[in-house]
Amino acid sequence: MFYPKNFPKQYEQPLIELLILLEKDFKKKIPTDDKKFNRLVLDKLRMDEVQQYFKDIKPSNWWFTFILLRHEERFSKIFINNIQPFLTKTKTRSTSGIVALSLFTKGVGCPFSCVYCPNEPGVPKSYFSDEPAVMRAIRHNFDPYKQTLQRLIMFALSNHPIDKVEIIIKGGTFSFYPKAYRRWFVKRIFDACNVDVIGYIKTGNYCHPELGSGSRSRNKFGMTGALLQAQIKNESAISRVIGINIETRPDYINDSEIKFLRTLGVTHVEIGVQILDDEVYKLINRGHKVKDVISATLLLKNAGFKVGYHLMPNLPGSNSGKDRETLVRTFNDDDFKPDHLKLYPTTITKYTQISDWYKEGRYKPYSIEKLVEMIVEFKSKIAPPWVRIGRLIRDITTTVMEGDGIAPNLREVIQDKMKEQKLHCNCIRCREIKDQKVIGQTRLLITKYNASKGQEYFLEFVDEVNNILGFLRLRIPEFDSNNNGSRLAFSC
Ligand code: SF4
Ligand SMILES: [Zn+2]
Repeated sequence: MFYPKNFPKQYEQPLIELLILLEKDFKKKIPTDDKKFNRLVLDKLRMDEVQQYFKDIKPSNWWFTFILLRHEERFSKIFINNIQPFLTKTKTRSTSGIVALSLFTKGVGCPFSCVYCPNEPGVPKSYFSDEPAVMRAIRHNFDPYKQTLQRLIMFALSNHPIDKVEIIIKGGTFSFYPKAYRRWFVKRIFDACNVDVIGYIKTGNYCHPELGSGSRSRNKFGMTGALLQAQIKNESAISRVIGINIETRPDYINDSEIKFLRTLGVTHVEIGVQILDDEVYKLINRGHKVKDVISATLLLKNAGFKVGYHLMPNLPGSNSGKDRETLVRTFNDDDFKPDHLKLYPTTITKYTQISDWYKEGRYKPYSIEKLVEMIVEFKSKIAPPWVRIGRLIRDITTTVMEGDGIAPNLREVIQDKMKEQKLHCNCIRCREIKDQKVIGQTRLLITKYNASKGQEYFLEFVDEVNNILGFLRLRIPEFDSNNNGSRLAFSC
């Protein structure tokens, strides 16, 4: 029998009783919002049938979900459907229909020593042991199968759909790990996604469904072995991997790495760009040049990967002028133009060299006000409609911050400033429809632009207020004379 961690087994029967009481009330009137639902639960907890069990404890919503899955036959389908919306935790996590799983590789994960990069013992470079996803990885000794299965179980118990899964692999520089380890890591993720998680929660048995009719033996890409088998099996599994995201360095991207990433099933590659300035790269010990960023972007785009950049304003050797120039060049110069962007303003933290530089007076960041002003200008005037600005700050706890910490609520500060000045960001994230209503007629917009020696088309369906309902990227790389024509690359 399977019981999720932290589930109080002794409450199984009282929880069934409590849900039976709730079902009776739902038959009369369904609560109209979460507040009313919570009040209803509190009322039921005072009833004779269950009061003695729940004197000092209020059940978590996921306990209800667990009971409803385990004892489905005790409740009507209508009740289960009606109660589900109240049991969903952080609804936005799956508004797109996809759940994202962050998983960590084991070990240091990178041979470089960028001066701003934290190197906490026992944790992959650039991460901290007090980050929730890292804590989960440590609990599972960085085992990819256990990390994946545990996350799928928790998403299912929080009532999110787990049929479409995006995998985000984190930890240092992915391309630095030996191929055998990477192949194994990804294969074990697929193995976990091939488990019928709901069946597992219900029965405690690892159900690996049989291959569906869509599965076939094939070796299209010259791939053999266990990874390919796990990938084929996933084509008809309940939890399908719809994308794999990795983080690496621009100078690690070459033809051979690209082919390897394709065999793993990687779809989205985030590269550490930080700034477009060779002098700053030298000072901060990056170990690569701007030309490597240009080359990596070209190779990745031509192979159909979604390309993400990480940029770091406020690095040693930089200033607000240089950082602004990087932001402008990133989107105006055809050599760059990433599909996705994360802004990680430099933060002075424990386990970094810049922490010493800061104490010695060798590194003095410019003010938060200047940083906010620059990001507001970037979002409102520079960011094109085809980029997604995923982040404006790294989630770092104040316990590891040193020196003049970046405000943890930077995103809100920026949003408030933009609201005050009636400015808007036109990026994908800020225009996603999410759970809002479609306003007016929808229309197809096509934006064409040159990028990395090719042409890109951003096709989007928007409503009357420009909210995005769906989009597709199309790329036509430069004419390839050896191929007697041009090739197409898609990503969405
Ligand atoms: S390459 Fe990335 S992971 Fe490696 S030291 Fe530099 S910032 Fe850290
Ligand atoms: Zn935006």
